[in-house]
Amino acid sequence: MAELKLAGARKSFGTIDVLHGIDLAVKDGEFVVFVGPSGCGKSTLLRVIAGLENVTSGEVHIDGERVTHLPASERGLAMVFQSYALYPHMSVRKNMAFALENMGLKPAEIEERVERAAAMLRLTDYLDRKPKALSGGQRQRVAIGRAIVRDPKIFLFDEPLSNLDAELRVATRKELAALHAKLGGTMIYVTHDQVEAMTLADRIVVLKAGRIEQIGTPLELYNHPSNAFVAGFIGSPR
Ligand code: ADP
Ligand code: MG
Repeated sequence: MAELKLAGARKSFGTIDVLHGIDLAVKDGEFVVFVGPSGCGKSTLLRVIAGLENVTSGEVHIDGERVTHLPASERGLAMVFQSYALYPHMSVRKNMAFALENMGLKPAEIEERVERAAAMLRLTDYLDRKPKALSGGQRQRVAIGRAIVRDPKIFLFDEPLSNLDAELRVATRKELAALHAKLGGTMIYVTHDQVEAMTLADRIVVLKAGRIEQIGTPLELYNHPSNAFVAGFIGSPR
């Protein structure tokens, strides 16, 4: 578990400014959701937090430690992507264990973590299958399991449900909420789905063109949107 701070985080790709100075403090155990239209910088912001991109200027702190220039592998975070990015030739068990083997954990510890995550995600009966023998929802649960076993300081999710059909999306969303209740970890979650944002978030961050338009609880944003853009995005009556 951990807290996160961004101070004046800017990101440019060449001459294109994507993030224009993001200030954000996420509390330990908080579930924070980034919303905003396509291209507003949600994934870039997540990648900057993960250490998959370096900020052009500004600072990133995790648990009070400056990690601005630390590579992703040293930040202790785990990211779940929209495209599950499972290893097709490995079993579910191996998909979950792989990163832990590389971290040098003992086999007994790896086995215990994998079994625990599998039980949590109802994957126990599927541990010896290959990803292609799983449904889309099960594959996404494996991707989530792969993050859980690493016991990360912060979970980062980039539109993890958007490849699932509507029914599965609702079911997996409820599982994620239950998981957060159980694990209590700090979670940062990107979506363009208002319902996901409203139901999962402790606080929502509304982004527009690389800037934060408003931050608040779902109810605060719904009842007191600071402008028409936020109202439109959150679905508040005007
Ligand atoms: P979102 O996830 O909100 O849809 P992104 O963070 O993916 O938005 O992208 C924000 C903007 O940054 C887009 O205009 C995108 O084209 C641009 N961008 C993202 N990554 C790169 C990159 N590696 N090189 C150049 N431009 C990029
Ligand atoms: Mg994106």
